[in-house]
Amino acid sequence: MNYQRFFEEAVDQVHAERRYRVFADLERIVGSFPRAIWRNNGQTKEITVWCSNDYLGMGQHPDVIAAMQNAVGRMGSGAGGTRNISGNNHPLVELENELADLHGKEAGLVFTSGFVSNEASISTIGRLLPNCLILSDELNHASMIEGVRRSGAEKKIFRHNDVAHLESLLQAAGRERAKLIVFESVYSMDGDIAPIKEIVELAERYNAMTYIDEVHAVGMYGARGGGISERDGLAHRIDIIEGTLAKAFGTLGGYITGTRTIIDAVRSYAPGFIFTTALPPAIAAATTASIRHLKASQVERDAQHRQAQRAKDVLSAAGFPVMPSVTHIVPILVGDPELCKMATDRLLGKHGIYIQPINYPTVPRGTERLRITPTPFHSDALIEELKDALIETWDALGIPYGEAGQPSLAKSDRIIPLLVPKSGG
Ligand SMILES: *Cc1c(COP(=O)(O)O)cnc(C)c1O
Repeated sequence: MNYQRFFEEAVDQVHAERRYRVFADLERIVGSFPRAIWRNNGQTKEITVWCSNDYLGMGQHPDVIAAMQNAVGRMGSGAGGTRNISGNNHPLVELENELADLHGKEAGLVFTSGFVSNEASISTIGRLLPNCLILSDELNHASMIEGVRRSGAEKKIFRHNDVAHLESLLQAAGRERAKLIVFESVYSMDGDIAPIKEIVELAERYNAMTYIDEVHAVGMYGARGGGISERDGLAHRIDIIEGTLAKAFGTLGGYITGTRTIIDAVRSYAPGFIFTTALPPAIAAATTASIRHLKASQVERDAQHRQAQRAKDVLSAAGFPVMPSVTHIVPILVGDPELCKMATDRLLGKHGIYIQPINYPTVPRGTERLRITPTPFHSDALIEELKDALIETWDALGIPYGEAGQPSLAKSDRIIPLLVPKSGG
């Protein structure tokens, strides 16, 4: 076995499939969001970021920075161990209370990332419930798919947002069997929203538990930033609400909220919670400051929704295939992985505009796209600049304009496949 060659071939295969990824070397500049310094081949250049999931710019909010600096000055950098070994750091206790309150739940539990919160919680709940059937939306995020797999439970995939399909699966399982429905509120690649009310009603009718991923909605929807479930008055009818601290809240970590009993069970059984070091106190303190700010302030949400709508309007009017998103996400269809990559290279190199290409396996082949995320800080002038840069790029590369049609429907398994080079090594 030539190990080195094996891994070279594994990477070659990614190249051959035109989905090798290159990450830009960026340094964000506090106070001039969404500007950043880009380093490339020994050169530095100031650019505009159009694809950040720091959706509201909270990662640079003065209150958030001050809370982080204050906590690190008082409590140091790290948490010092797993919670099982070293206990809770106090800012983490406050953060979990804040999150429970945000979603109107009895309790919250924080993990080191949103990915881990989904993987650990879904797998633990699915494993604890006897003969559990997990019903999972076909476009669920990789972290949820991983949780479903690791639960060892039987799974059924329902067609994306298809409540009739979900109902037929629930009906077949019967009222008595343990069932967990896992789905997202905002699907972040198409920018569509789940029929949460219908799903919750089905869950009540067929006695199923519900688990919603509100990662792309917390902070941004609802009167206090509690997500779509808050906006639509449905939070109290959902068993577990999961979210991230790393997108609109601008820091790092993930969490679930629910009844004290369910949270206690996950806390007690989930290896992804038990055997890993807690979030640092400074991150917890900064996140609490961010959540508190967004609970009280509507300014950021209003500005984000206004600028996202404006970007959609301006780009549609210019003839771009803006995919039909009902959220703050603005996807523009390219439909080819190489063109998608070439477009983003050109936008960055020639126009100083950074948008990461979204290719397979994140989205189905043939629906490669630019995924633009306007924030409160993307001014009208920046939107005009983006439009002009896109026109130059579309014309130079011969990318088709026109209608984008319906949102994409993916295959059930969008998780990155384990690569085995063809020659075997
Ligand atoms: C980003 C994302 C996650 C993971 O959250 P992190 O905090 O970045 O680990 C989970 N679910 C969805 C839908 C996501 O897009």
